[in-house]
Amino acid sequence: MIEFKGTYFDGRSSKAYAVSIQSDGQRIRIAGNADGLPLLFPLGKCRLTPPLGRTRRSILLPNGGRCDTADLRAFGKLESLKGDNRILRLVNFFESRWRLVVGCLAGLIACVWMFTAHGIPFAAKKVAYSLPPETMESVSERTLQALDDGFFKPSALSQKKADHLQNIFRQLIADVDSGFHYRLVLRSSPRAGPNAFALPSGIIVMTDELVKLAENDRELIAILVHETAHVENRHGLRMLFQNTGVFLLISVLAGDVASITSIAATLPTILVESGYSRQFEREADLAAGMILVGKGWGTRPLQTVLQRLSEKQPEFSGPAAMSTHPQTRKRISYLQDLEASLTR
Ligand SMILES: [Zn+2]
Repeated sequence: MIEFKGTYFDGRSSKAYAVSIQSDGQRIRIAGNADGLPLLFPLGKCRLTPPLGRTRRSILLPNGGRCDTADLRAFGKLESLKGDNRILRLVNFFESRWRLVVGCLAGLIACVWMFTAHGIPFAAKKVAYSLPPETMESVSERTLQALDDGFFKPSALSQKKADHLQNIFRQLIADVDSGFHYRLVLRSSPRAGPNAFALPSGIIVMTDELVKLAENDRELIAILVHETAHVENRHGLRMLFQNTGVFLLISVLAGDVASITSIAATLPTILVESGYSRQFEREADLAAGMILVGKGWGTRPLQTVLQRLSEKQPEFSGPAAMSTHPQTRKRISYLQDLEASLTR
């Protein structure tokens, strides 16, 4: 039983009477201080006006009279009892609570954004740091194989030059080594041009084209240090897992390690075509910059080689590891700022 207040018009005059309206869902009773009241009608014979924003609602009575009410909540209950205006009621619900609807939508968008911007990278990092060394080794070997099959040619550098580079790399690794099995792999790649790639287990591939582009050993060391930072921070795996997003989360939750290995099949594409995120490049530049400043060279070797990379390979469109053009200027000024803050 519901009961609420309203105003009764008898349909013959414009006189309004304050009334009390009651309904048990079957009948409706209008009681008040006027001639002819109380009135009793089957609820099914009455018509309830459809909702329109937050205006008053009316019950059109079979005797030609009408009851108005501002008690929208009670009126809604009456409608539910009668089963009227379901869709309009729903529309009205959202219409009259648009702030709630907008709020819910904004909340939903925020949740999706938070999940994409923070949840997925967080999960990707967790998984990247939890992979056992054997998995990283096999992922890296397979990636190198795939790159050799489709992308690299054997290095054409002289044995003397190659030995020299291996020597430089060994000295460098002695400083940064933290348990990864670092290995310098030299390849030629007209397609990738001057470039370097870091594979998860510590394999660093450097192209002959890059060796030729560098003007001195310091520039090559600068790039190698930058690449080791990608390894140390597991950037390759994190990019890989971030790109796999939700699929990765499902695999991990299901404890499906096999699918992690199959996801890794896309690592060559990520390394060669999409490259790292700006955040990862910045982290690698930071690590490299600190080491270079520590050696007393300043960040200049990395700046000059980055500059030359961006000038000399405009035809190479894939924004791979070392060659994200629009970022070059920003990266150089970041390195300058870093050096200034470290040597102040
Ligand atoms: Zn990089």
